[in-house]
Amino acid sequence: SQYKIPDVKKPRYVRVNTLKLDVETAVSELSKDNMVEKDDMIPDLLVLPPATDLHNHPLVTNGSVFMQGKASSMVAVALAPKPGWEVIDACAAPGNKTVHLAAVMKGEGKIIACELNKDRVKRLEHTTNLAGATNVEVLHENFLNLNPEDELYSKVRAILLDPSCSGSGTVADRLDYLLPSHSHTSGDGNGGDVGRLLKLAAFQEKALIHALSFPGVERVVYSTCSVHQIENEDVIKSVLPFAASLGFHLATPFPQWARRAQHLLRTDPVEDKEGFFIALFTRSPESPQKVE
Ligand code: SAM
Repeated sequence: SQYKIPDVKKPRYVRVNTLKLDVETAVSELSKDNMVEKDDMIPDLLVLPPATDLHNHPLVTNGSVFMQGKASSMVAVALAPKPGWEVIDACAAPGNKTVHLAAVMKGEGKIIACELNKDRVKRLEHTTNLAGATNVEVLHENFLNLNPEDELYSKVRAILLDPSCSGSGTVADRLDYLLPSHSHTSGDGNGGDVGRLLKLAAFQEKALIHALSFPGVERVVYSTCSVHQIENEDVIKSVLPFAASLGFHLATPFPQWARRAQHLLRTDPVEDKEGFFIALFTRSPESPQKVE
């Protein structure tokens, strides 16, 4: 056939939920039946062979380890909230990054996990319970309706924004367009409908501006599992002047990661087995331009 699907066997990544189990114990437990290596970048991430099926493994079913990809596991680490901080996870369900944040914060401080969709709120609650993340407060709300000036959020120092996106970085979707049965008349050649992408990007931009507007916030991480520039670099570019006016600048998450345009980090759906985008805004707490 003229259509060739590249070999994209993903390693099986699992993130150890350090709220429940330490990394060494997880390695020794999982090593009984599998080849296990530690990831070279993310401290709590383990790498197993591609075909490893852990869905019914007791460590998975009891919430000691989460099946979470490498790119997805980079986001909470990039945000790097300190134990004791107050943090908002703006678009939180199903909660993989929420409970990762809880682990990074050693269960101390507070995470407000905001989710708009009622059914997905249930999944978020399930994930936080499973993880034993007791410092998470689940909020069924539209993130855009949280008032940054509300006293409730005055101590929030970091926001993780992982908004709805096209999902075009996930291998199945990305490779869809290579199949003969798949045709996109209004597509961009990457399996994306431009109208849909622009709509998503309008929300992503609004949500990012909203996140940057919380007066006490020092760090905002923005991530998508999209390969489209419209949802990634273009969103960042459009908010840069506003961000700069509040004293924010783009920081460089994971400087050792080569695939990036300056500050903005990308993972490739084929080479890295997952297409992902991460941008990190920071400002110093003393920033004179911070909104009072
Ligand atoms: N961060 C999650 C994780 O790692 O498990 C995945 C988040 S998913 C990409 C985006 C989520 O944002 C969806 O559950 C969606 O329902 C929610 N969402 C979309 N618009 C929202 C809004 N305005 N306010 C809050 N949540 C929203």
